Amino acid sequence: MSRFLIDRLQSLEPYVPGEQPQDMRYVKLNTNESPFPPSPRVVDALTRQIISRLNLYPDPLAQTLRETIAAEYGLAPQNVFTGNGSDEVLAFAFMAYGSERGFAFPEIGYGFYPVYARLYGLKPAAVPLNKDFSIPAEKFCNLGKPIAIANPNAPTSLAMKRNDIERILRTNAGSVVLIDEAYIDYGGESCLPLLSRYPNLLIVRTYSKSRSLAGGRLGYALASAEIIDDLNRVKNSFNPYSINSLTMLAGIEAMRDRAYFTECVNSTIVQREKTKADLRGLGFSVLDSASNFLFAAPPYMSGEAYYKGLKQKGVLVRWFGDPKLKDYVRITVGNETQMRVLLDKTKELLEEVTA
Ligand SMILES: *Cc1c(COP(=O)(O)O)cnc(C)c1O
Repeated sequence: MSRFLIDRLQSLEPYVPGEQPQDMRYVKLNTNESPFPPSPRVVDALTRQIISRLNLYPDPLAQTLRETIAAEYGLAPQNVFTGNGSDEVLAFAFMAYGSERGFAFPEIGYGFYPVYARLYGLKPAAVPLNKDFSIPAEKFCNLGKPIAIANPNAPTSLAMKRNDIERILRTNAGSVVLIDEAYIDYGGESCLPLLSRYPNLLIVRTYSKSRSLAGGRLGYALASAEIIDDLNRVKNSFNPYSINSLTMLAGIEAMRDRAYFTECVNSTIVQREKTKADLRGLGFSVLDSASNFLFAAPPYMSGEAYYKGLKQKGVLVRWFGDPKLKDYVRITVGNETQMRVLLDKTKELLEEVTA
């Protein structure tokens, strides 16, 4: 840190992403990516069409991409905003709506919300979860400040009922309620049907998980035309070309290939349910996941010991040092082979500690 950095930014605690080892030696189950490559249509379009056009700037309005997303969800293009990963969409939302009253979110949730709150000088208001890790909807009612909730939540994997979110929307009509649906394709009830009735609803989604494009960096927002206009005002004051042409094209083709998307999501759900049952059979405590990961606490050893033991055996999962989460690890649901390796290595570890 230099002595020139302004005070507010000196005290930032930046978001710490999961490990991304570049040598690919690990069975990588630590950052909730899809184990499947992007749709063959994405690969085809990128190799055929685009390379010769990289001398030109991308479309700052992302018109075709927004039309494609809108068509998929029965909306109009003016209800869609696209950004460089949903992280950027979240950042713009915190910039646009964070007031002096702060920004509220669940105490255990996506780790970026408190980071963005502090980055923009907002007061983070963390609302504690229930003992079973569920989100107490009533504590978000009548808050009178902007709210961000991931549904399904991370890293707990639990989904909230749409009725509960609707209560939050109704009782906070004067504030934006951001519902981060990064994992909604794997389970839970989307807030999409509420969009026409709640002008304060801002849904954020990503291509990084169910669309197999984490490396492309693409996310989007679904909301009223007025909210989308706000986000565009912020974006166009920051970086009008935040999505590159390659990613834009990938996003169009990935959204159009509904069959491939459905196949990948269904396969992940099958592996999730099987792995959950297997782990429970070994004595793990595993929450009911509506996402592409499992939040699981091992028997006979600490969460940290399990994480370290798996890493030594070549399997990478995510462990959070936070005292409230430390008994658990978050395991991304991979493909069948990866889940078999996870199970085998887990059994070895259990034998080692109980021997
Ligand atoms: C993965 C994730 C994101 C970030 O997605 P990107 O589009 O890759 O930036 C946002 N919110 C939640 C809850 C996530 O789990």
